[in-house]
Amino acid sequence: MTTDQSQKLFEEAQQLFPGGVNSPVRAFRSVGGSPLFFAKGSGAQVWDADGNSYIDYVGSWGAALLGHAHPSAVAAVQAAVTLGFGFGAPHAIESQLAQLVQQCFPALEKMRFVSSGTEATMSALRVARGFTKRDKIIKFAGCYHGHADALLVKAGSGAATFGTPDSLGVPADFAQHTLVARYNHLQSVEALFDAHPNAIAAVIIEPVVGNMGVVPPQRGFLNQLQELCRAKGALLIIDEVMTGFRLARGGATELFGLAPDLVCLGKVVGGGLPVGVYGGRKEIMEQISPLGGVYQAGTLSGNPIAMAAGLATLKELMQPGFYPSLQEKTAYFTEAFRSLLSAKGLPWQLQTTGSMWTLFFTETPVVDWESAAKSNTSAFGRFFHAALEKGISLPPSQFESAFISFRHEKADFYKTLNVFDAIL
Ligand code: PMP
Repeated sequence: MTTDQSQKLFEEAQQLFPGGVNSPVRAFRSVGGSPLFFAKGSGAQVWDADGNSYIDYVGSWGAALLGHAHPSAVAAVQAAVTLGFGFGAPHAIESQLAQLVQQCFPALEKMRFVSSGTEATMSALRVARGFTKRDKIIKFAGCYHGHADALLVKAGSGAATFGTPDSLGVPADFAQHTLVARYNHLQSVEALFDAHPNAIAAVIIEPVVGNMGVVPPQRGFLNQLQELCRAKGALLIIDEVMTGFRLARGGATELFGLAPDLVCLGKVVGGGLPVGVYGGRKEIMEQISPLGGVYQAGTLSGNPIAMAAGLATLKELMQPGFYPSLQEKTAYFTEAFRSLLSAKGLPWQLQTTGSMWTLFFTETPVVDWESAAKSNTSAFGRFFHAALEKGISLPPSQFESAFISFRHEKADFYKTLNVFDAIL
């Protein structure tokens, strides 16, 4: 397998972008080597700039639930682009997409479209603070909610991967209102509420963590957290940027029977184009300008091409049988993977929820950031490169989720597991 083109492109990109990339985890720094440049994708497959093909488990970091270049999304985007790229004015597709979002997530009585997950969480926190007239927020160590200043405190994903969970350039004054609790540990949240009475505006959480690798919530944890927030007059913000539409039509909110005050969405909702959403209870969302005093805006918010991609995507996943089929694929893969690990006597933790999975190179179950951080990242790096060499593309970090798409077939899993059998 040659990767000369990718290497050439990377040399050029390094002259232009910090680390040669436009988002840090893409740079392969934690696994070593230099990144591949991708040229195209179709279904569950991607091709690099040298023409090598891979079974893809990155899936545009979760956005590609339907696989790459799904024909109905492609057709919808092609139809939309001929009508103009955006007007900075309202148009009909925004409401059509919002209605489908609402069918999946009834908790979004009112919502706003933005252009990224970062914007969604940042704006949700602002409205939570505006509504409660409180300043402090609670997040969990190892959870990542985008790169807004106040959220780059003990953050997961790339921040954890590169050992910079607390970013330079965030003034202490900006981070002083961010309190950090331990995931799956309700007492740590209670202690923060006790230490800061009537000061906490909101708790923001990844309901199933993807950004320290996949860490599911322990039984009852999310529901108890919800009750605690209610009792303390703080809002519960469920960050479903990764889990929304993926774990179920209504994401983790549906899966765990939650009633959040605010929900953030991203990735799948734009079908791979830049869309984020935040929304929730009407009286909270009506605090936003022009109705209320909380300001939030966006030139490209509700962009018609992105809305068209999102609409076509949501229509596909609302077909009867979509989630049972995804679940069946996922169960087939994870069960076979588990049997392989036990047949080989390997102690590694395969952690999954729905179509999200991570193989942690550690011998004890991962329940929070402390246990995730015990993983052998060098062993992960070797696994990553051996898989890539044999045509399997995984996220280039131990602290990320891999994703199965609707277009992965048994033949893909068969090939993947044969590779894993050979390299593990
Ligand atoms: N929240 C979660 C849970 C995420 O996984 C991400 C991105 N991986 C974000 C927020 C930020 O989204 P974006 O990268 O689109 O800004």
